[in-house]
Amino acid sequence: MNYRHAYHAGNFADVVKHATLAAVVDLMQRKETPLRFIDTHAGVGVYDLHSEAAEKTGEWRNGIGRLVGAVLPPEVADAMAPYLRVVHEVGGKRKLVRYPGSPELVRRLLRGDDRMVVNELHAEDAAELARRYARDPRVKVLSLDGWTALKAVLPPKERRGVTLIDPPFEEPGELDRLAVALSDAHRRFATGTVMLWYPIKDLAAVAAFERRLAGSGLEKILLVEIRVRPRQPVPALVGAGLVVHNPPFGLVPRLEAMMPFLAARLALDGPGSWRVEWLAGERPKATDRRSGPMSHD
Ligand code: SAM
Repeated sequence: MNYRHAYHAGNFADVVKHATLAAVVDLMQRKETPLRFIDTHAGVGVYDLHSEAAEKTGEWRNGIGRLVGAVLPPEVADAMAPYLRVVHEVGGKRKLVRYPGSPELVRRLLRGDDRMVVNELHAEDAAELARRYARDPRVKVLSLDGWTALKAVLPPKERRGVTLIDPPFEEPGELDRLAVALSDAHRRFATGTVMLWYPIKDLAAVAAFERRLAGSGLEKILLVEIRVRPRQPVPALVGAGLVVHNPPFGLVPRLEAMMPFLAARLALDGPGSWRVEWLAGERPKATDRRSGPMSHD
């Protein structure tokens, strides 16, 4: 286990993942009934943006660093409001010094009766999470293998919930594991919302993953994708994707409001591109728009 999220916290991929997650939670909270958030690969919850690790890569400066202080078009500000509120609460208003990971982001959105289970295998990180949330009775911290934890915690007793599966992609086969985890989660908790995160590096592998999900027999699978670089001659991180199974009503318009802006703003090399598309679902029409002429593959 070499992956340390401290090197990447607040980068372009985190921005898309966390803005989408906050929108999902916010939309699900339109109903009063309590919900549970489950984070199988949680990290430490809060990241110091001036730590040695963060300074070494500087990735956050090309992610959240490009949004803070920017004037956002009103529809983008609305769509990203739950996320940006927490970013500012945790990070500071003018100069950003910290960044909320998924556990802290969602914890700050929880209502009194909502609950969350955050799981992290790395012993020191799990201990840090346990210390951080010791006084919040809504939060339970586990330190298990994430794929095992998923089976242990589903279904939640609230019968309403969001599960984020955000592995480090250190080992081959993580995309296959994500697809299996989605089926497992569906078998245990068919109405739950599940979010899968993955890097876009090996384009053929990502295309095969999409086809596999599209043919899985599951309905209501939404794909959200950002590309910040054009295709590279050697495999390199060109973007990131999220699959949202059973997205809450209202998520697509929020994503369609924020993604063109994010693709243009976070692009590193070329104009950037985005997709919000049903891989499987009730909606017949797919959306596939670009902020520039970059090819998808
Ligand atoms: N979800 C976090 C967020 O958005 O702020 C980031 C998570 S990071 C991408 C992946 C995390 O998974 C790392 O903190 C790593 O220590 C942890 N990890 C690695 N292998 C794991 C496993 N088998 N089970 C659970 N966690 C694991």
